[in-house]
Amino acid sequence: MRTLVWFRSDLRTIDNAALSLATRQSTRGVVGVFIISPGEWRAHDVAPVKLDLMLRSLAVLRTSLEKLRIPLLVRRAETVGEIPSLLTALCVKHECDALTFNKEYEVNESRRDARVLAACKAAGVVTHACTDQSIIEPGEVRTGEGRFFTVYSPFKRAAYKFIQAHDSLRAHPAPKAQTSLVCKSDDVPTAIEGWHSDIDPALWPAGEQEAQRTLEQFIQHRSRSYKVDRDFPALPGTSALSPHLAIGTTSPRQCVLAAYQANADAKGSPLDSGNEGLAQWISEVLWREFYIHILVGYPRVCMHRAFQLPTEAIRWNDNPQHFEAWCQGKTGVPIVDAGMRQLRQTGWMHNRLRMVTAMYLTKNLFIDWKLGEKWFMQHLVDGFLASNNGGWQWSASTGTDAAPYFRIMNPVSQSQRFDPKGDFLRQFVPELAGLQGEAIHEPWELPGLLRSRLQYPEPLVDLSKTRQAAIDRFAAIKKP
Ligand SMILES: Cc1cc2nc3c(=O)[nH]c(=O)nc-3n(C[C@H](O)[C@H](O)[C@H](O)COP(=O)(O)OP(=O)(O)OC[C@H]3O[C@@H](n4cnc5c(N)ncnc54)[C@H](O)[C@@H]3O)c2cc1C
Repeated sequence: MRTLVWFRSDLRTIDNAALSLATRQSTRGVVGVFIISPGEWRAHDVAPVKLDLMLRSLAVLRTSLEKLRIPLLVRRAETVGEIPSLLTALCVKHECDALTFNKEYEVNESRRDARVLAACKAAGVVTHACTDQSIIEPGEVRTGEGRFFTVYSPFKRAAYKFIQAHDSLRAHPAPKAQTSLVCKSDDVPTAIEGWHSDIDPALWPAGEQEAQRTLEQFIQHRSRSYKVDRDFPALPGTSALSPHLAIGTTSPRQCVLAAYQANADAKGSPLDSGNEGLAQWISEVLWREFYIHILVGYPRVCMHRAFQLPTEAIRWNDNPQHFEAWCQGKTGVPIVDAGMRQLRQTGWMHNRLRMVTAMYLTKNLFIDWKLGEKWFMQHLVDGFLASNNGGWQWSASTGTDAAPYFRIMNPVSQSQRFDPKGDFLRQFVPELAGLQGEAIHEPWELPGLLRSRLQYPEPLVDLSKTRQAAIDRFAAIKKP
């Protein structure tokens, strides 16, 4: 048997279910393929900074695969419809009688894969679609009534039980080196027309070895203080592994296993007891898992639909000027602007600020969460539909387990609490760098003359009035 492995969002050799299986089952070699898919990427708003990281990681993957005597082919499909015939033609050309890949769960991706499976069947190619993007196959963990969970905490409890009972953290066997190369590898392009990133690539080192190094450093040096530090954007308190998880240079299994092993002397289960930082971090990785399950259980969330259908009655404000000011980090609210500028300048935004900026857009500006979701996707190095949609719908109070509509984060108190000295604000909003004390959090409280010297915008809206208006508009749709 010879197997073609189709790499997508799993750009690594270690603990890769599809690659591991291919190298174990094949007797006549393995061939890897990655498909450059501009039509699909455009439709899904893949950010230039993310694509750049993907291409650099693909080059690293090519080198790792060659050490296993597995060539990496790089092909191009302008539209997603070309992919099934492209893959079956490759199977014919390289005499592959099997195809393996790791499942992706978004609606379009699932439809694409269903077409690939049908084409392979017709061509007599055996296929294996593996679970790899999540620790637990979506749908395996359900409520007592057999439904998908819609609330995180019971999902997490059930997931932990499942993981323990099924030994789900066990890594897949290391890929076996093949005896001979089937063909030569293709060159990996360094750029794709239509995508250009201005963000310094040194910010996002590529490849699975870098992901592994980031994971080890985090577990060793920062995980134990994670529970406290994770909320302060000026600190390097979180793992910054999300870009690697998004393109699959690491897996959620590898992440949770590393934390589990570091927490091995816990009195109870290392998943949810022992060191608080490690347990909290595992729980955050499980949020990603939860949102993947939601995507499969409620696929409408992939198609611009609200999870809570009654909230679709909301008439959001149509205000392009306000939206543009939010995108550019010029709302006049320092913590919101700092977050939005961090996104533009680095391709990443701290989790607390994702919540603050998303709530400000949807509750204070009362602009549709779908616009914010798209903007994030177009700029995030870790753009991942399940988590991005989950985070946006949570913040907009339209989603599963969402923030109640009447609990709206106040950006000023968030700023005072989580950036008390204004260190983060000074880094991303240099116009305010000279301000001391409380003024940096709410510069509109300064006397007019001082304010005019700052060259910083006046707030777009009154925070408390817009907060109340949002609560009223949400309350109105609750009425029968
Ligand atoms: C509006 C909004 C949009 C978001 N968009 C994305 C996105 O496109 N891609 C993305 O990976 N995450 C997204 N998140 C979740 C979260 O903000 C990021 O995963 C986190 O900031 C990544 O940083 P980290 O790797 O240092 O996280 P850590 O704190 O180190 O957490 C470890 C991992 O756990 C997962 N995780 C942590 N928090 C969450 C969460 N709330 N939801 C889902 N998974 C989580 C991530 O995979 C993360 O890498 C979004 C959150 C919000 C509120």
